[in-house]
Amino acid sequence: PTAHCPLPTAQMTHDWKAIDAAVRVEPGEKSKLKERDTVCDHLFADRDAAEEALKDCAKAINDLQDRLWAERSRSLLVVLQGIDTSGKDGTVRGVFNQCGPLGVSVTAFGKPTEEELAHDYLWRVHAAVPKKGMIGVFNRSHYEDVLVVKVRGLAPSETIEQRYAQINAFEKHLSENGVVILKFMLHISKDEQRERLQERLDRPEKNWKFNAGDLEDRKLWEEYQSAYETLLDRCSTAHAPWRVIPADKKWRRNAMIAAIVHGTLADMAPTYPRVSWKPTDFTVV
Ligand code: AMP
Ligand code: MG
Repeated sequence: PTAHCPLPTAQMTHDWKAIDAAVRVEPGEKSKLKERDTVCDHLFADRDAAEEALKDCAKAINDLQDRLWAERSRSLLVVLQGIDTSGKDGTVRGVFNQCGPLGVSVTAFGKPTEEELAHDYLWRVHAAVPKKGMIGVFNRSHYEDVLVVKVRGLAPSETIEQRYAQINAFEKHLSENGVVILKFMLHISKDEQRERLQERLDRPEKNWKFNAGDLEDRKLWEEYQSAYETLLDRCSTAHAPWRVIPADKKWRRNAMIAAIVHGTLADMAPTYPRVSWKPTDFTVV
């Protein structure tokens, strides 16, 4: 950082590195998804403090995004994955709500179109990677190609098997070309999912979110967990490690993700470019 316009130092009372270390899947290690807590009471134990931290981080993320844009040399890609109702939309709302619409692009990946299926599976993904200066959020991602595609048998298993290494190579390529990658799996319990699906039936204003297909996917809970465990084991790399976020509590999920996004951006330390002239050289009449 240069002396002019020092980086914003938000009043952070939390230790984001400790939070990050608690949820990161270390490259080369087994993710042990089944042993990972979906609550994690000890991280952000106090709800009021978590909500304060979220507010501070969301503002600081916006300040840093402004610098990232001014600098125009790097971008941040935030990948959100999680089973139905795990809170991917809520995370976008909660964490990036201070950012103006110009600085953040959000891409939701649904069932591929005919055109998308006519290309390789990374084609649509690469096209949505944030350009220099931007923060890009993926609501679902290329990981669906080793999740739903695997669980529902939408491609031959040998094809899927090759994809883990392809994804690692793709992400390495991006990271070597100025894209910093943060991957979050929103980890909820099966009971929590039942409650959230039930809520979509019980509350009229949530009915629109209910999708009978989600019940079919819920029947395949174990298969999905196992597919998640495999991708966490195989695609947590030094250049793009996975974080498994305890997501049963929405406020804790948001606070943790905001803390890690903020910490990562602060470490990137984007700076406003220095100008070659002196402001005093000019007079506005
Ligand atoms: P939603 O996120 O609720 O709008 O649903 C999007 C749906 O698209 C989910 O059921 C995903 O499993 C599905 N989807 C996303 N990517 C793929 C893919 N590559 N192949 C097949 N289905 C996908
Ligand atoms: Mg669905």
